[in-house]
Amino acid sequence: MRSLNLPSGAQMPVFGIGTWRMGESARMRAQELDAIRHALDLGYPLIDTAEMYGEGVAEEIVGEAISGRADRPFIVSKVYPHNASRQGTIAACERSLRRMRLERIDLYLLHWRGSIPLAETFEAFHRLREAGKIADFGVSNFDLDDLEEAAALDDRSMAANQVLYCLSRRGPDFDLLPWMRRRSIPLMAYSPLDQGRLLGKSALRKLAGELGCTTAQLALAWLLAQPGVVTIPKSATRQRVEENLGALDITLSPEILAELDRAFPPPRGKQALEML
Ligand code: NDP
Repeated sequence: MRSLNLPSGAQMPVFGIGTWRMGESARMRAQELDAIRHALDLGYPLIDTAEMYGEGVAEEIVGEAISGRADRPFIVSKVYPHNASRQGTIAACERSLRRMRLERIDLYLLHWRGSIPLAETFEAFHRLREAGKIADFGVSNFDLDDLEEAAALDDRSMAANQVLYCLSRRGPDFDLLPWMRRRSIPLMAYSPLDQGRLLGKSALRKLAGELGCTTAQLALAWLLAQPGVVTIPKSATRQRVEENLGALDITLSPEILAELDRAFPPPRGKQALEML
């Protein structure tokens, strides 16, 4: 699978499984664990999680899913903005490591911008990196102005920005993604299926029918065709975990990409970054 270079020299795979909404119901735990294990068995190389998801329980499920595996996946987790102080970031990261039974998180993100000065959070990220507890760090839900401010603090360490980006929400195409590409900062596209809302769109259904794939696969293949983009669809269902991985086998022709542009036009001007 393709991967993108990070400042530490590590490689981030362009595809993985998301875990938001996991860990919220004890009744679903076994199914969620099974879905992540199944994803890993199929070769998903990356898991995206956060201390927020299930208030830590999603990270526990991730920890259980990866424990004992010879080749562990690339792990992304995130710190709550209200925990992102100089000391709080370090304590939050240590809790996440314990829950996932890990010694190091591959990519650690500030989940969204809060009131704690970015410089404090970044100082903590540097300390965590020096201690070997994280390999790379970055941000999430940062529009261009926030990202410029973050990059001004530390241009060489900013490893990624995770934002809402999919066919039906193409705002980042106008300025954010080009800016990130110029600096080789990967964009992690969250909610790539718009949490399922994208799947019923008739234009997508029609094109998927012509290509002989599912609408989910087409939506994911479009993201995978965008340079510098990583995506992390979530599913707690075995069959959908398999289906989503199938997007990697789809190559979109210039004609199909043009049809998708017609059905889901790129923005003509600045749109404020949307957030879920
Ligand atoms: P997605 O766009 O990945 O959609 C997930 C939803 O779609 C779930 O309800 C899932 O149901 C369903 N689904 C998944 N695959 C299929 C399929 N093939 N066919 C039909 N339905 C399907 O939304 P998310 O918001 O979960 O985004 C993905 C990940 O991005 C999150 O899990 C999280 O890790 C990250 N994220 C980060 C945010 C941030 O602020 N940084 C914000 C939002 C998400 P089911 O599970 O039942 O299969």
